[in-house]
Amino acid sequence: MISRRTFISAVLNRFTRRTTLLIIDAVFLLAHLFYLFFFLHNDITEMFVFNIVSVSVYALLGRLICKEPDHVTFYACIAIAEVALHAGAATLFMGWETGFSMFIVCCGPFPFFLKFKSWHLPAVLEILFISEFIFLRTYTGRPNGVIYTQISDKTITLIFVFNTLMSFLMIVTFSSINKFMKQLEEQKMKDKNEELSMLIKIDPLSQLFNRRAMVDFLKRLDENAKNRGEIYVIGMGDLDNFKHINDTYGHASGDKVITVVSRIMTECVPSEGYVCRWGGEELLFAVPAASMEQGRQIAEKIRNRLKKYVFTSDEGAEFSVTITMGVTECSGAISYERGVSIADQYLYYGKSQGRNRVITMENFPPELLK
Ligand code: GH3
Ligand code: MG
Ligand code: MG
Repeated sequence: MISRRTFISAVLNRFTRRTTLLIIDAVFLLAHLFYLFFFLHNDITEMFVFNIVSVSVYALLGRLICKEPDHVTFYACIAIAEVALHAGAATLFMGWETGFSMFIVCCGPFPFFLKFKSWHLPAVLEILFISEFIFLRTYTGRPNGVIYTQISDKTITLIFVFNTLMSFLMIVTFSSINKFMKQLEEQKMKDKNEELSMLIKIDPLSQLFNRRAMVDFLKRLDENAKNRGEIYVIGMGDLDNFKHINDTYGHASGDKVITVVSRIMTECVPSEGYVCRWGGEELLFAVPAASMEQGRQIAEKIRNRLKKYVFTSDEGAEFSVTITMGVTECSGAISYERGVSIADQYLYYGKSQGRNRVITMENFPPELLK
């Protein structure tokens, strides 16, 4: 079953990818709208037509991204091809000085950011970019293009400034996105690891912490008690005649009892406390900064709520279950192991006294303590 956290992470990841791609697509579309009007204004018809196609391509890409944001490599390839072709054509028409060729250099890193199946493709693309760049420099290395030769210096300067800004924007944006995506990926890994370490601490039937996790909490409480003089309380509970419940109403009913008592215990123990399945039908709670009296009240609440709960077996038979509990206060003077042992002795004294009761040092004969 997928956890809520993983689900949120997946939604966030999907949402982020779609939004990021749409923003990039919109920037490309707007830049080409600018070029479209620029070429129209300067009567460079071929490039005006080229940009009508480019704008249509980015509009179409926007629609595809909305529907399916996962095909990043495919969309990036189309955009890179468009940028490299546009840069080449515009340089041929208007000349090297316009700075359109900078976009070819900007395309350079992208084949290595994308996830291609083979390493040959990035290498081939890189060779194409370098060849295109050198070709353009060789054939258009003068103020005006080889096709349109009557372009004013002012126009060339204007487009050079715009192209410079756009090239830097392209590099900065993509570097930031790459970094952001990596961070997102790391966060996802962290979430997954946290979830895994959580899973190994949780008992699958009761959804409570298991004994291993509880020992870690108890060690922490023990340290605080020793270092800062804080007290804490431990309560150990064991279901009464549980074997009889299993034998009479079936193992599934027994499992249901464990789930219900676990829920009751979680609800009765304050949020700063811990509840675990210590063993088969033994549950243990620990509450930091709590006295024995507070622990006894918590245990009584659990016992009373469980006693009143009416279970129904698969066959429709109604039954109830009781619990016996031992509660002890721990300070720095005794270890958590000793605390657990005392609570256990109280609990078994409670069993011997007729079950369904809470035992603390107040109703336990001190001479029996081992
Ligand atoms: P007492 O009042 O003295 O504690 O008697 P009891 O019958 O509860 O104690 P006993 O130790 O004899 O039996 C415990 C039973 O708990 C035996 C075991 O089959 C059952 N049990 C342990 N874990 C589970 C579980 O996960 N599910 C079910 N259904 N039963 C379990
Ligand atoms: Mg029992
Ligand atoms: Mg037992």
